[in-house]
Amino acid sequence: MASEPYKLHLIVIPFMAPGHFIPMADMARKLAEHGAMITLITLPVIAARIRPIIEQATENSNLKIQLVQVSLPLHEFGLPEGCDTVDLVPSRNLLLSFFIALDELQQPIEQVVSELKPRPSCIIADKHLPWTAEIATKFGIPRVLFDGMSCFSLLCNHMIRKSQVHLSVPMSVPFVVPGMPDHLEFTRNQLAADLYPNLEFGQKFHDRIRESEEGADGFLVNSFEELEWKYVEGYRKEKVGKAWCIGPVSLFNKTKLEVAQRGNNPAGAVDEKQCTEWLDSWPKSCVVYACLGSVSRLLIPQMIELGVALEASNKPFIWVIRGYDQEEEIEKWISESGFKERTKSRALLIFGWAPQVLILSHSSVGGFLTHCGWNSTLEGITYGKPMITWPMFAEQFYNQKLIVQVLKVGESVGPKFVVPYGREEEFGVFVLSKDILEAIEKVMAQDKEGEERRERVKRLSDMAQKAIEEGGSSYLDMKLFIEDIRNLHIS
Ligand code: UDP
Repeated sequence: MASEPYKLHLIVIPFMAPGHFIPMADMARKLAEHGAMITLITLPVIAARIRPIIEQATENSNLKIQLVQVSLPLHEFGLPEGCDTVDLVPSRNLLLSFFIALDELQQPIEQVVSELKPRPSCIIADKHLPWTAEIATKFGIPRVLFDGMSCFSLLCNHMIRKSQVHLSVPMSVPFVVPGMPDHLEFTRNQLAADLYPNLEFGQKFHDRIRESEEGADGFLVNSFEELEWKYVEGYRKEKVGKAWCIGPVSLFNKTKLEVAQRGNNPAGAVDEKQCTEWLDSWPKSCVVYACLGSVSRLLIPQMIELGVALEASNKPFIWVIRGYDQEEEIEKWISESGFKERTKSRALLIFGWAPQVLILSHSSVGGFLTHCGWNSTLEGITYGKPMITWPMFAEQFYNQKLIVQVLKVGESVGPKFVVPYGREEEFGVFVLSKDILEAIEKVMAQDKEGEERRERVKRLSDMAQKAIEEGGSSYLDMKLFIEDIRNLHIS
């Protein structure tokens, strides 16, 4: 009897935030298309959000992807039922409890792994779940980390940490990052959270992550080599493990349904038909799309500054409003200030979740006002949209530097320092509407500078598309990854 062809069995364990589980679900599907069997282990709310896309992928094919759910005893940590992801944690005070609660997943996930058949070939874990290192060691399974950052950011962070250059300058004085392919300056209070710890549990959490990185067999990166090749090379040289660039993963969504439902949060979803019809009603490149990611929070006065700038731009715009517990208050301002009435002929306001890739891939969108999360940054590039940058926390100032200074495909609204996630109250209004407006006008302008910016980002967008096609750099890196894991597994 002919034996079954040897199949890799990959376990995928995403971190519990949209910026992590969305790209990891995209990646999991693609790995299945390359012939691997996938077991994706996650929490029920996340499973519900990625299931439609996984089911679509497996329905009419032989792809083997199973979703396994584990649950967290949220109430034991004072967290409301159903808050399975960072964006659903209702208040800042509960963030620490959420992160502590995540450690409780080690045991149930270990149990799942012990029962899996066939024996897993590799664990692909988000690096923010450091205990996955212990599971891999216990069962003698190779472990690869999915890193939510670009090679640019990874190398920046690595070089700063290695040189400790940031420690010899006062907080707001710029320093040059040593050993980088370009001249890059940052201040200490613009650095990623492991170098500028700004939450009470920050340092300890990041130390654990760094420790767990040490034994990893490599990193999967959502990027493509042509975008940041000097940094990919630099990072590969510096790191002992491998780095496979397999993105942009958003392009793995091919059908309309996949694009519309990516990361879907049914509670906040706008009707995608209405969204498409609205976009269709505008000429090419004239709409500003403003969305500050899945977890960032603006105070009401800061949101108003943004609303005022969008109105003053005189452009049609989509504004994704995530008010959390302040939703009523911002809705009140929108109605009572006359903003809604004055902008109704050219504004689409989305309260909650927006189908971002559907919007960005539409030709009428001409500018993307973004918080510079890596997924959003790469999506802006992938769909050829010049960006208006408003970094807030994590490594978002690095991404801004890549967009504005290195790739020259965006303009900043001008924030000077990280506003730590969950500590917005302490900082008040830190970006003014006049500065937001100025950046919007620059990016949307039909002048020479604007045209050149559009051309540059269009060229990158073409390269992104080629990278994932058969024979492209990301396609080949994914193949190489599979080959490397097969060799690791066999050895
Ligand atoms: N996203 C979306 N709709 C929203 C907000 C976010 O589809 O209303 C997606 C977005 O396309 C991206 C991810 O969520 O893939 C957010 O990741 P990113 O790294 O940009 O930022 P984060 O939310 O992690 O800060």
